[in-house]
Amino acid sequence: MKKTALVLFSGGQDSTTCLAWALEHFDHVETVGFDYGQRHIVELACRQEVLTAIRERFPTWASRLGGDHMLDMALLSKISDTAMTSNKAIELANNGLPNTFVPGRNLLFFTFAAAVAYRRELKTLVGGMCETDYSGYPDCRDNTLKSLQVSLSLGMDMPLVIETPLMWLDKQQTWELARKLGGDSLLEIVRENSHTCYLGNRQTRNIWGYGCGNCPACELRKVGYEKFLQAEGASA
Ligand code: ZN
Repeated sequence: MKKTALVLFSGGQDSTTCLAWALEHFDHVETVGFDYGQRHIVELACRQEVLTAIRERFPTWASRLGGDHMLDMALLSKISDTAMTSNKAIELANNGLPNTFVPGRNLLFFTFAAAVAYRRELKTLVGGMCETDYSGYPDCRDNTLKSLQVSLSLGMDMPLVIETPLMWLDKQQTWELARKLGGDSLLEIVRENSHTCYLGNRQTRNIWGYGCGNCPACELRKVGYEKFLQAEGASA
């Protein structure tokens, strides 16, 4: 039986690393992306660049990489008002969550991804959610996704597995995983082509990639990369 997977692929650092992980562990991998009016819409162009670069530089992975599915989720920006989709400052809200939080976003994404997986007969959903380093989004938590796996499997009457290879890694370890999976070539793709910055900054090139360097997403990526370099230096 061929092992098949659908990767929730946004074009960011985490989902790029997850895509590499899936290409290493599955026989056939497809990708799904969501256009929901995100401020960092540039992410959507970056995801095409990442896919192209992976096809060019990793022939074995290229032979396993199938189609890309793009879903229009514009509805999401109409039903929620957050700093992720509208032009306002990123800050902590009264409930302690950053106002980039789109309520239940990952529940919706996984449910739509499961519908694509059902149609394409893909057995595993792969996502880059992480409890360790993140801002406490409740829909990224391990228990949330475990319960969703059960709900989706029951609701579609098909055994679906949700894999989250980054769940217990911090950002330094995510850089390390990328190196382990694809060496310097993959690190270069993550730095050059993947996009993380919430503000969509593609003008400022830092050693860890493009981004404003100050938003919460840039901050995590930057600190993780600095620790990764330090650890590399210490072990060299
Ligand atoms: Zn930024």
